[in-house]
Amino acid sequence: MKKLGCLFLLTLLGAVAAAAGEWSGFCVGISDGDTITVLKDDRERVKVRLYGIDCPESSQDYGTRARQMAGNLAYQKIVAITPIDTDRYGRTVGLVVADGVLVNRALVESGMAWVYSQYCRVAECEEWRNLEEAARKARRGLWEQPSPVPPWEWRRGRRAAAPQETPRSVSYHGNTSNRIFHREECRFFNCSDCNAVFPSRDAALQAGYRPCRVCKP
Ligand SMILES: [Zn+2]
Repeated sequence: MKKLGCLFLLTLLGAVAAAAGEWSGFCVGISDGDTITVLKDDRERVKVRLYGIDCPESSQDYGTRARQMAGNLAYQKIVAITPIDTDRYGRTVGLVVADGVLVNRALVESGMAWVYSQYCRVAECEEWRNLEEAARKARRGLWEQPSPVPPWEWRRGRRAAAPQETPRSVSYHGNTSNRIFHREECRFFNCSDCNAVFPSRDAALQAGYRPCRVCKP
């Protein structure tokens, strides 16, 4: 009984903590299916990574469709963010609700995202795993493919392949002090702090660099 009471109190505290961290804002950008930009307090652009899911990368099949779906659900809408975590790039990782729809869940349900099982630890994850299984059985969305590659494996493959690429394929330079990256055509491509070299836009984003606003890589 004592144990139960304690557990209840902890759960309650957890719920209060989650509620206290909640905030809303206008969704002003969709980077890909699982990453959006939200205007906080009408001034701060906050990049939010959707918690517990992983959408196909833009270079993978269904990456574009996942992005479109996230756009249909959230773009130019007021979204409620429940932060759960911060990732290694300092981004907020959270639950995103738009028009009463939990976007994280909706993407999984329609076969536009994998449950990022390794990192999915909230109560909802169990339901999401079931929804993923159902989408897989119904061959919805990315599950139409006979053997879809999980995005985390895709990214690992790209990292492994990167050193074998010829120098000619290098097409992005990153400014190591302000962490902004540029394409070759950009006038800032050879800036004094542009010492990071990336074979692809994805590689630059993975490394935590932001696209330049001038050359828009
Ligand atoms: Zn640039």
